[in-house]
Amino acid sequence: MKSIVVANWKMNPQTMRDAKSLFEATRKAAESAKNVSIVIAPPSIFLRELATAYKGKKLAFAAQNAHFQKDGAYTGEISMHQVKDSKASAVIIGHAERRAMGETNEETRAKVNAALAQKLVPIFCVGEHKRSGSGEHFLFVKEQLRAGLQDVVPANISKLLVAYEPVWAIGASEAMSPRQMHEMAIFIRKSLVGMHGEKGLKAKILYGGSIDETNAREMVTEGDVQGLLIGRASTDVQRFPILIKTLA
Ligand code: PEP
Repeated sequence: MKSIVVANWKMNPQTMRDAKSLFEATRKAAESAKNVSIVIAPPSIFLRELATAYKGKKLAFAAQNAHFQKDGAYTGEISMHQVKDSKASAVIIGHAERRAMGETNEETRAKVNAALAQKLVPIFCVGEHKRSGSGEHFLFVKEQLRAGLQDVVPANISKLLVAYEPVWAIGASEAMSPRQMHEMAIFIRKSLVGMHGEKGLKAKILYGGSIDETNAREMVTEGDVQGLLIGRASTDVQRFPILIKTLA
């Protein structure tokens, strides 16, 4: 089974030159790795140049965020149409860092709809801030799923990537355990089936949060996920190719 790896570069690197070096290292790793498909999410200012120059089939590109409005007076924003035109095929929606900057559940819903209207794959992020023994995190995640995906018609469910990223494991020193991820993957599937019927089983689930070359394989083989969303480790030109190799 093919694993999907989303490389979220966040606000890195600082120059187009460094972005090209990182892209080259990622491209080489991707092209020698069977069973792994990589989606690079660079800062949007680098997106078009990287995406249009790449002629291969092993890599795809995503924007890290885009606005839900079609066009108009939204200073500093980019539209889904512009993302599509830059040759990206996906867009991250509802990342914890965007939610921390004020993105609401209602906005994630509008963005998912706008992305699907442009035939972009929504990489829809959900995840609780903390866990207590009482299992409230399940209700929190269920509400994020309900709010963001409520308008998605069953036929479009298979186009979604749902990235479960517990906020407490993002940028942390340790990832969540594959056993806990397995439990959450079952819950997410059950929630999607509750909302969208059997087609809910078709969404692909990714895990994100402190994945590196030491734990990626275990998460994919034991966590019941179809892939990973990776932040820090995806911008390390030495370690990311090693990580990819562990999955291949
Ligand atoms: C992320 O921000 O989506 C993420 C998974 O970051 P990191 O891998 O650095 O924890």
